[in-house]
Amino acid sequence: MTSVNPWEMARQQFFQAADLMGLEDGLREVLSTCKRELTVHFPVKMDDGSIHVFTGYRVQHNLARGPAKGGIRYASDVTLDEVRALAMWMTWKCAVVGIPFGGAKGGVVCDPKHMSPRELENLTRRYTTEISLLIGPERDIPAPDVNTNPQVMAWIMDTYSMHQGYSIPGVVTGKPVEIGGSIGRNDATSRGCLYVTQEALADRGEKLTGQRVAIQGFGNAGMYAAELFAQAGAVIVAVSDSKGGIYNPRGLDVERVIYVKATTGTVVEYRDAERIGHRDVLEVPCDILIPAAVENQITKDNADRVRARIVVEAANGPTTPEADAILWDKGIFILPDVLANAGGVTVSYFEWVQDLYSFFWDDRRVYGELEHIMRRAYHDVMNKLGTLQKQHGRRVDPRQAAQVLAIERVAQATRIRGIYP
Ligand code: NAD
Repeated sequence: MTSVNPWEMARQQFFQAADLMGLEDGLREVLSTCKRELTVHFPVKMDDGSIHVFTGYRVQHNLARGPAKGGIRYASDVTLDEVRALAMWMTWKCAVVGIPFGGAKGGVVCDPKHMSPRELENLTRRYTTEISLLIGPERDIPAPDVNTNPQVMAWIMDTYSMHQGYSIPGVVTGKPVEIGGSIGRNDATSRGCLYVTQEALADRGEKLTGQRVAIQGFGNAGMYAAELFAQAGAVIVAVSDSKGGIYNPRGLDVERVIYVKATTGTVVEYRDAERIGHRDVLEVPCDILIPAAVENQITKDNADRVRARIVVEAANGPTTPEADAILWDKGIFILPDVLANAGGVTVSYFEWVQDLYSFFWDDRRVYGELEHIMRRAYHDVMNKLGTLQKQHGRRVDPRQAAQVLAIERVAQATRIRGIYP
């Protein structure tokens, strides 16, 4: 399977959008570069008494619109280029939804599935200490991403607070509610996907009820997407995790799949479905395809076999630029990552605001504000798409429109602030 370097992919997308909007050379250089890149190598004591040195990264892409914001990922294939790409996408994402953050991302090269809870805690606390050069509630606020969760965020919050001598919940988002987390953060990414999908369907005179949905990845983004889309009337026909996928054209019992995943560790143990490969889920007949795993999943090798009408990118960077072009030619509508999965960072923003004010919102307020921001962002992107099409006399895809919208906002913030000194 062809795999594209995510940083090259993120820059390619950026330059395409920069060309489309006629961005001046100086700002092209500024915005295509990451502002800060920290690489750390740090020892962790393992359960058997041995010491293992791990490598981690924290990259801040841009801070023009506010403090840096972005998740932390634990995986054995994390690279600096992947973290750079994810940091850049965070900058655009925060700008698309209009929240006052710049973009950052972090990652540790490790295999969390083969580490004990104590080893993961040791790794997290030491990594937090190493990147505390950069993070802080006014400077850079991490959050969960692949293979990190509210417990990991709690360890980050506690470690940072221990160093300062008092509790600083605003240093990280996605924490448990008991220690300053926000109601609604767990399913925020998927809820945001739901709102923008409903808007896209409404534009076509359609409703979600009865639409067939396939989802790749069954973690935070994928599992809650399955649950929320099913509750909203969609039929979930296929899901997958890293061990494989399951498909039933009549629909899966989502609550049952969640139970099976929780008790066996994988969705493939669910019985009332055909077992398929974890990539096959991208190719099943469906109306809506939600990639919710990792980058580089829809590539030039399989894009032609995608049978959905709408692709909703819950994952970051699941579609390569070559695949984008193929999907486009097939008339498939993509709700791009920087819009579709921005619900997570939006509720992270709410969490940070609540932490700073020590005043906590109820679920009605969280969901209401999230819905407002996501539906507004969808229409901002579509309006930008309309303007660009008129301006250039040709069709423009939603990813380019979202990127142009975001880059304009970040570029304008940079122009207003000026180049120091
Ligand atoms: P997670 O660790 O909770 O879940 C990842 C899921 O993907 C797991 O089910 C895993 O088994 C599966 N997976 C991994 N590799 C796979 C593969 N090759 N094929 C099929 N399944 C595979 O992570 P998450 O937080 O749900 O993140 C998933 C994606 O969503 C990432 O791209 C992440 O950057 C993006 N995202 C997450 C959030 C968030 O709030 N968690 C917000 C925005 C975007």
